[in-house]
Amino acid sequence: MAVVKVSLMDALREHFGFDSFKGNQEIIIQSILSGKDTFVIMPTGGGKSLCYQLPALMSSGCALIVSPLIALMKNQVDLVRGYSSKDNVAHFLNSTLSKAQIKKVRTDLLTGKTKLLYVAPETLTKQENLDFFRELEISFIAVDEAHCISEWGHDFRPEYRRLKEMIEQINDKLPIIALTATATPKVQSDIVKNLGLNDPNIYISSFNRSNLYYEIRPKRKKDQTIKDIVKYIHQHKGKSGIIYTLNRKTTEELADMLTANNIKAVAYHAGLDPTTRAQRQDMFLHEDVEVIVATIAFGMGIDKPDVRFVIHYNIPKSLENYYQETGRAGRDGLEGNCVCYYSHKDVQKLEHLMRDKPLSEREMGAQLINETVAYAESAVCRRKVILHYFGEKYETEDCGQCDNCRNPKEKIEVKNRVVIVLKAIRALEERFGSEYVVNVITGKTSPQISTYRHDQLEVFGEGKEFDAHFWNSLLRQMMLEGLIEKDIEEYGLLKVTDKGKKFLKKPYSIMVALNHQFDEEGSEEEEE
Ligand code: ADP
Ligand code: ZN
Repeated sequence: MAVVKVSLMDALREHFGFDSFKGNQEIIIQSILSGKDTFVIMPTGGGKSLCYQLPALMSSGCALIVSPLIALMKNQVDLVRGYSSKDNVAHFLNSTLSKAQIKKVRTDLLTGKTKLLYVAPETLTKQENLDFFRELEISFIAVDEAHCISEWGHDFRPEYRRLKEMIEQINDKLPIIALTATATPKVQSDIVKNLGLNDPNIYISSFNRSNLYYEIRPKRKKDQTIKDIVKYIHQHKGKSGIIYTLNRKTTEELADMLTANNIKAVAYHAGLDPTTRAQRQDMFLHEDVEVIVATIAFGMGIDKPDVRFVIHYNIPKSLENYYQETGRAGRDGLEGNCVCYYSHKDVQKLEHLMRDKPLSEREMGAQLINETVAYAESAVCRRKVILHYFGEKYETEDCGQCDNCRNPKEKIEVKNRVVIVLKAIRALEERFGSEYVVNVITGKTSPQISTYRHDQLEVFGEGKEFDAHFWNSLLRQMMLEGLIEKDIEEYGLLKVTDKGKKFLKKPYSIMVALNHQFDEEGSEEEEE
């Protein structure tokens, strides 16, 4: 790739007017400019766009940016144009353009004026576009929102699966940069595999949002919960907040209840007409209302820096969703409070919503819900659980910014029980998931266990004085401590890590807090 020789810092100043790079930006840009495949994992707001925009502007030829959302594409192009004096430096090519507009874009591309071309994956499925791109000098391909490639991501797009084959048709030597704000280890490996990234440089930024306070509250009867929410909002009088609910009807109901309690609130959901939606969004941005009660339709592309609280009236369907939705609090780095109401009923409701989906999707959905449940019930630092979900280690003992750290539960010694778990996983040759391991430890027979003669193992039933709930909780904490891990490729198989092996050789004291218990009584069913 031919690169115009100027220092990166000068280029940053010239093109964007910024004085310094944010986070990993500089090293990422160097990686792309050197022609290496590059994988960027950076939380929202971290400054991902600049990672491909600047090298695109510095390279000869045009960079292709694959982006899943047509609506955001125009936005992106306008932003780039805003920094430049020339309008044709960036274009997008998708199904919304007229014939005349497409012709203009092609002319600008052929004359080398355009440095960034945003395309939808659909654009790349058209042979005539691929043929056209083949004739152009393309500097590199950027795949934005790369998690869309994975069924384990929160926004799977089947067209993304075909990207590799389409890119190869343009030129199989093009460097690829993949970017995402949301990648668990499983999603990461899917991205590398599906895009065929060649020995990529991988840059993972921390997902820790140290200014956010995380809290779980038990969800009781409806009017009690609403009372609790009203009280909470009064304690944050005059501040902006978002309340997320599962369904449209609840957004309206809650907004009405809040209004009746002297809180300025509006509902927001996909069932409203676009004008009303735009109006309500503006009311929130301009602080004509304090609270917006929304389904997850609200938030994409919303940038209000001083949202002070995000309340989840229902638990979200994955921890990834929770992270994204709570991430809208405290964007300015100041106070942000995240409260989530939790009940078993809401978990069942989420499961119920998947009833008509194909089996594989249901299984995947159930796994994701499981992680959220584990988060809610855990007595471990919330931050630690969230970051572990993103494959990040958080070693601090007490984050001071979550309910579990502020009000720790009493801890118990589990050294010998940890040994039992490790021995069981080893005895099962690391070929089984949590449920099976727990069955063996608690001495629960099943046809499979008999067939494999696992009821003959020394560890079989060795932990029967505690129930499955206890052992599951312990397994999770052992994962957090890095003593065991789940196999990423074959989802769910438990393995003993090096740290776990060392522990087995020389066990040491381990204290853990047992899970919170949420009573079934009191929480109330609402209809959809
Ligand atoms: P992401 O795509 O990761 O969510 P963006 O690319 O939208 O993040 O960037 C977030 C904000 O940070 C934008 O307002 C952008 O202009 C700003 N930004 C990015 N890089 C820099 C930098 N080096 N210096 C100052 N501001 C930056
Ligand atoms: Zn904590």
